[in-house]
Amino acid sequence: MKKKSKKLTTASGRPYYENENSLTVGPRGPILLQDYFLHEKMAHFNRERIPERVVHAKGTGAFGKFTVTGDITRYSKAAIFSKVGNECRIFIRFSTVGGEKGSADTERDPRGFAIKFYTEEGNWDLVGNNTPVFFIKDPKKFSDFIHTQKRDPKTNLKSPTMMWDFWSLNPESLHQVMILFSDRGTPYGYRHINGYGSHTFSLINSRNERFWVKFHVKTLQGIRNFTGPEAEEMKGRDPDWAQRDLVEAIGKGDFPKWTLKIQVMTEEQAKSFRWNPFDLTKVWPHSDYPLIDVGILELNEIPSNYFRDVEQSAFAPAHVIDGIGYSYDKMLQGRLLSYPDAHRYRLGANYEQIPVNRPVNEVKNYERDGYMRVDSNGDDNPNYWPNRFDDVEADEKYKEPPMKLDSDVANWYDRNENDDDHYTQPGLLFRKVMTEEERQNTVSNIVGAMKGITGPKREEIILKQLDHFHKADGELAQNVARGLGVDFKP
Ligand code: NDP
Repeated sequence: MKKKSKKLTTASGRPYYENENSLTVGPRGPILLQDYFLHEKMAHFNRERIPERVVHAKGTGAFGKFTVTGDITRYSKAAIFSKVGNECRIFIRFSTVGGEKGSADTERDPRGFAIKFYTEEGNWDLVGNNTPVFFIKDPKKFSDFIHTQKRDPKTNLKSPTMMWDFWSLNPESLHQVMILFSDRGTPYGYRHINGYGSHTFSLINSRNERFWVKFHVKTLQGIRNFTGPEAEEMKGRDPDWAQRDLVEAIGKGDFPKWTLKIQVMTEEQAKSFRWNPFDLTKVWPHSDYPLIDVGILELNEIPSNYFRDVEQSAFAPAHVIDGIGYSYDKMLQGRLLSYPDAHRYRLGANYEQIPVNRPVNEVKNYERDGYMRVDSNGDDNPNYWPNRFDDVEADEKYKEPPMKLDSDVANWYDRNENDDDHYTQPGLLFRKVMTEEERQNTVSNIVGAMKGITGPKREEIILKQLDHFHKADGELAQNVARGLGVDFKP
């Protein structure tokens, strides 16, 4: 046999001669305690798993590049947008939301669409979904909502009763429910979905003026979906379909691309917008707030190691860069804290040093030590601020303009005009945007799912949900009622 050039070693680097037969007393054993290499192998194997993400557990990712194609310097001073033609490396992780790490890619579910832009002024994470809205608009409801998407505490089965019970009691979910049960709820892989930053963010220009912004990422492969029955069939045939589709396309040089676009609203316009512009269950109509071109995203490299780069990737809406800021959106405010918190639990306090999460520019701060600190840990520089010994400054040029607030502190319900209008936009989607075929598929997907509602509250849940559908569109409610064999009189 040809001699190989690399030597087998223990984790501590000791070249070792044996990787299959344990150290035993005689050929039949027992094994000696001093077979340290055996122990090391078994012990490391026992620790291979890290906690799976509580949401978005099943996913896949790829590296690529972002190129600026449109001038938006009038809105944002972000260095990456400073010149048409600017480029930076990106990493995108796609995922489903509710399923476990081994669940099927074609489940009816929103798809996560998380982008990390490695810019010269830090990482900008746009952590969105393939839908422009979400099921809830207050983060206090998030864990309750997600529990309904996971497993019943007794049967450990997915439960349509839990889902529709929650949705029917939370009419703000209707817009996202409608999208979920359209064919966009079962996309044909990840290359054929749009991404949306979903939240309202700020853009800040060089005059320190703030604009409200929504980010849209539009597929250049075209929207393509499975029908409900096709998605069901694919679950059994290839549960990893979406991952395979992405890996194979990139492997043969067919690099998927998306355009990045924005909608911009001035602070003045926000005051008279028909709905709350910071409500994650609403969109901004394109006719009033047209899409503006920003750039092109291309994916061209599947990581050579899935765990290193995809499993350990950590995105956070809190990661913005100078020229991009937050907004009052309550869901965004909740996510600003909860995402880094989840990463610290899953990956540790130093998660931002893991190569896929590390910014390309130099990190200078006074955070030190902690588990798995693998960079220089600040070397021999001061570990406190202020000090007389290093040359690090907090540059005033990065200061944001103030956000104005004039309100009372309370646990507010929907008290402003139109804040509890959960029906106009879902109605528009159904009547104006969907084709006749999409309407029929949406109704039959809803009927199929609602047939799974069981138990003593079945009728109450169904009637309440039909009432919500009716407020969006009468025909939708009647068609769903007919499919369920329910006599529904609004
Ligand atoms: P437009 O006709 O200008 O835009 C409709 C949008 O709907 C397009 O972006 C289209 O995406 C998208 N779309 C088409 N089918 C579906 C579907 N089944 N699920 C989700 N999105 C879909 O309409 P308006 O801006 O006036 O908005 C009308 C309704 O369209 C909204 O109430 C909302 O439900 C939906 N919508 C609006 C968006 C917005 O930001 N304004 C974004 C996405 C949806 P594409 O062009 O990529 O096919």
